[in-house]
Amino acid sequence: MSRPGCLRPLLSDNSGEMVAVTGGWEALGQSGLTQGPIIDWIPLPKRSTLMHLPDRPGLARRRSTGQVGPVPGAHSLAVAAVLPVGYLRLQLPVHQRRQDRPSPTLPLYGYTAVADRDGEIVVAARLSDDFAPWTGPRPGRAVVAAEVTRLQRRMPRSRVVAQLSICALEHNCLTAQNTFLGGGEGALPTSAACNADCLGCISLQTDSGAPASQPRMGRAPSAEDLVAVGAQHLERAERAGLPGMVSFGQGCEGEPLLRERQLMRVASELSGSFPSATIHVNTNGSRPEALRRLMRAGVNSCRISVFSFDQRLFEAYYRPRGYSIDDVLGSCRVAAETGAQLTINLLTFPGVSDSPGEAARTVRRLLELEVGQLQLRSLNVDPLWLLDRVPELPPGIGIGRLVDLIRSSVPRLALGNFTRPLAPAGAR
Ligand code: SF4
Repeated sequence: MSRPGCLRPLLSDNSGEMVAVTGGWEALGQSGLTQGPIIDWIPLPKRSTLMHLPDRPGLARRRSTGQVGPVPGAHSLAVAAVLPVGYLRLQLPVHQRRQDRPSPTLPLYGYTAVADRDGEIVVAARLSDDFAPWTGPRPGRAVVAAEVTRLQRRMPRSRVVAQLSICALEHNCLTAQNTFLGGGEGALPTSAACNADCLGCISLQTDSGAPASQPRMGRAPSAEDLVAVGAQHLERAERAGLPGMVSFGQGCEGEPLLRERQLMRVASELSGSFPSATIHVNTNGSRPEALRRLMRAGVNSCRISVFSFDQRLFEAYYRPRGYSIDDVLGSCRVAAETGAQLTINLLTFPGVSDSPGEAARTVRRLLELEVGQLQLRSLNVDPLWLLDRVPELPPGIGIGRLVDLIRSSVPRLALGNFTRPLAPAGAR
């Protein structure tokens, strides 16, 4: 959709009361630190959340003069949408810090530009995937809670069950819930440590002051514990005739490749008992040879997260200890060599991912690597805090145009948001 002039700013007061601003103001979106019209929008999807940004005045454009500035009055704070899974943010909300006092770092959400269009709220976003296990109806909380209690009784000492109970009930993590429900991608959190310190890490924020949205597990579980919980999940899926899938590397943990020896055992036992199962790892791709050994042991699918293929941006975002983007590229090649499913989780950020040099580099890498699916995710982080910490880049072409460019340049690549289970062993 593209009729920028008709969008009015949506702003909030301190109490969270939101109003559409009248009186000749045009709503804008932001890419990096550049403001511009919202040119690509959809109606606010169901299950989105609207939130005001505390201490962050919003900006808009005066239609009469074309000037961009704060909107006077009590309703002056920026408003953002947080999108449900399966949607991709195209622009950031236009906002700035207060000049008179420091603004606290915002919590880790995918802040997205919103506006009012004739009484309807619209958002600068696109649908990026529709996959029923993630986007379809889900069992209610009472059902999940009953299944959590059932497994807690069956495995009272399991560290995995203890961690997943918190994730399923307190953080509403769908993969954690799946492990109790016995279908879909079941979470197996594995590692308490990491060899990176990502600006947007949701399990540990070392210096931003923002709370981690899924605090990291305190102690790593044993291989026996992981096998027991994984096996009960895969057994139930098998009995129900559903594809069996477990995954290491969850939001609540560190880097699974650091637990290579234990995970080799887990992968070997689970793949031996459930040859049709998808044994998946979500990883930062820091240790290609460890990934190779895991794949030899039974891991047959992986998702590697990438903020940028450029070493300078990569370092600024991941703050890696002892590895580089070359290792991440090496991990991508290992996955392809071993025949495993390879997906890349591109952590998109308007004004960075779509900066022309970045866009061209991403396309080049996707052409070169044998990636099956590119997952397009909105990076959840305080936008201004992130922009203070990454090198300044030329203005972006737009996240929507980046997606179109990738689609037309690498037509064999599936674009989406969710990892699919592999076809049954006989059909592979
Ligand atoms: S690699 Fe993953 S676990 Fe490690 S710091 Fe980054 S987001 Fe967190």
